[in-house]
Amino acid sequence: MLIRHVSSCLFLLAFLGFASWGALKTGNDKQLSSTDPSAGDWLLYGRTSDDQRFSPLSQINEQTVANLGMVWSREMGTTRGLEATPLVQHGVLYTTGSWSVVYALDAKTGKQLWTYDPQVKRERAKFFCCDAVNRGVALYGDRLFVGTLDGTLVALDKRTGAPVWTANTADITKAYSITGAPRIAGDRVIIGNAGAENGVRGYVSAYDAETGKLAWRFYTVPGNPADGFESKAMEDAAKTWHGEWWTAGGGGTVWDAIAYDPALDLLYFGTGNASAWYRTLRGGGDNLYTASIVAVHARNGELAWHFQTTPGDNWDYDATQPLLQADLNIAGQLRKVIMQPNKNGFFYVLDRATGEFLSGTAYVSGISWATSLDPKTGRPIEAPGVAGSEAAMISPDPGGAHNWNPTAFSPATRLVYLSAKNSTQMVHVPDPKWKYDPNSHNEGLDSHEVPLHAKLDDMPPSTGELLAWDPVARKAVWRAPTPVLDGGGVLATAGNLVFQGRSDGILAAYRATDGKQLWSFDAGTGIMAPPVTYTVDGVQYLCLMVGMGGVPGLYHFPGQGPIKIGHGRIVTFALGGNAVLHPPAFGHQDPPVPVLALKASPQQVQEGARLFSTYCMQCHGAGAVAGALPDLRYSSKETLLDMENIVLRGTRASVGMPSFGTVLNAKQIGDLRAYILSPGAESAKAAEKPRTP
Ligand code: CA
Repeated sequence: MLIRHVSSCLFLLAFLGFASWGALKTGNDKQLSSTDPSAGDWLLYGRTSDDQRFSPLSQINEQTVANLGMVWSREMGTTRGLEATPLVQHGVLYTTGSWSVVYALDAKTGKQLWTYDPQVKRERAKFFCCDAVNRGVALYGDRLFVGTLDGTLVALDKRTGAPVWTANTADITKAYSITGAPRIAGDRVIIGNAGAENGVRGYVSAYDAETGKLAWRFYTVPGNPADGFESKAMEDAAKTWHGEWWTAGGGGTVWDAIAYDPALDLLYFGTGNASAWYRTLRGGGDNLYTASIVAVHARNGELAWHFQTTPGDNWDYDATQPLLQADLNIAGQLRKVIMQPNKNGFFYVLDRATGEFLSGTAYVSGISWATSLDPKTGRPIEAPGVAGSEAAMISPDPGGAHNWNPTAFSPATRLVYLSAKNSTQMVHVPDPKWKYDPNSHNEGLDSHEVPLHAKLDDMPPSTGELLAWDPVARKAVWRAPTPVLDGGGVLATAGNLVFQGRSDGILAAYRATDGKQLWSFDAGTGIMAPPVTYTVDGVQYLCLMVGMGGVPGLYHFPGQGPIKIGHGRIVTFALGGNAVLHPPAFGHQDPPVPVLALKASPQQVQEGARLFSTYCMQCHGAGAVAGALPDLRYSSKETLLDMENIVLRGTRASVGMPSFGTVLNAKQIGDLRAYILSPGAESAKAAEKPRTP
């Protein structure tokens, strides 16, 4: 696993079970389905169904923001990533933490009203590409919905947190999980899933919000033709695949972005990478509908249109980044558009009624996989040698020029705001011996060292920034460089402000029109999530989840800047707030002390390093220097001597350390132990720099 920075992906599977579609029910909570809900609440994932994350509130504005201070905070009992968008209604805040746990808090004081823990079995951690995270809940009437890491959709009574119904959305003998927030379309709850890195078949499902009955399911990739195709869309898609793709699931998981246009009754979602990552391992082809923006009719789940951002993806360019809707004047015509800053480095503007490609423009520097897009079709023109069987250094890396972190569009400035990353790199090496293994990662990446890795240090440094992008003029209006690579989700407000948290724990406010930083706060731990804003009793609050995990926090690659791992919390601000944060200490201050004298050959250490990169790094950190989870270099003697039981027999599965007994053996545990204890483990981090899953 070699990358300089990465992140990726997620998804589900189940049986085909179409319910008949009745007439759209009316009389639902109008406030929720409206595109202009009350300004003081935050009722939908993107505040409004267009996912603009723009708040009309302006008590906190460019003049008053200097007086913004914390009013309450609450520790969340985790060191993992916190990615949720809190929802707020009538003074109650609903959010999620690690392991799909739901919290209801008093939005004014932070007092806990109730909590719901779905008790996800910790051994499922081996199926997560990117931490035990959750991005939030959906509200509908008296119900609250959450998707869990074990593939369940749960409806809760929003007053008590008591479950009303549950739906098993996925076959969890496979590597499915849910990290994304459910969305509401009409009277349906829409949910996707994750797992394309491990080889599953992607789909999105619609459930009746009242009953929990499956209304429809749209698969994103075709299954085995011998079983018959579920739809014409699947039959068409199968023509773009070769070999026996279905044996590895196909991928294309809908692990994050889902958006709904009530006027068109179209549901939009982005799909992830194909399984395996590499085109040569899949037999070639465009592989529909992976790495695509897809629109289906919300009433029946039938395909309306699709636009594939990365045909035949070879670099983990999931098209799962936020999908923003707006009406823009393009070439003298008012167009209903949908926009996406894609992982692949291009900012797409499509007609959301028809899927017509309007524009696609590079929004970061360093893109090396494609030279440009065809101006008419938007199909990328690949650079030579980027998708063969040889090693290739590619930018952006699988973390993308932008990832899942929410973006905002301000109707006042007509700009899109997002955290962007320039010149990230990864050496892709398809493993010619790769075979699908349901118990292992299935990216198909060869984790052996290749000469190209040595050249990563010669590349321009990767840099992070807050970007203000004009989607009509197709250019940056301003870029505010950040000291870290990874910025979190953003929020734009009528106060002419843009808020952005970062992996170094700083939450900052910028003037929306010119990018001047006006305010900042040290939240003690890195930030990935987006802020939200709301009012209670006439006071405007700003609130966000603080917690550094996911790929940046767990892989903990070098070159990310002064990233801050630590305890997760929720923090809330208002004008005049003067509460003081006292973050508990985290991590090791001193170098590890050898607790076990081992004789190991250099070959053993080298093999241990390779195994670590393949199986351990995604939780315990690149070069065995951990981030959010235990740093194995500090293990006790007893733990080191017990590694066979822990790793092969799963004796700590109940706390999240799964068994690797199906893929590792006792000799390999010896190699891993030798590597963890080797003085080179930390320095190997430098060599491991551009490695990832
Ligand atoms: Ca992916």
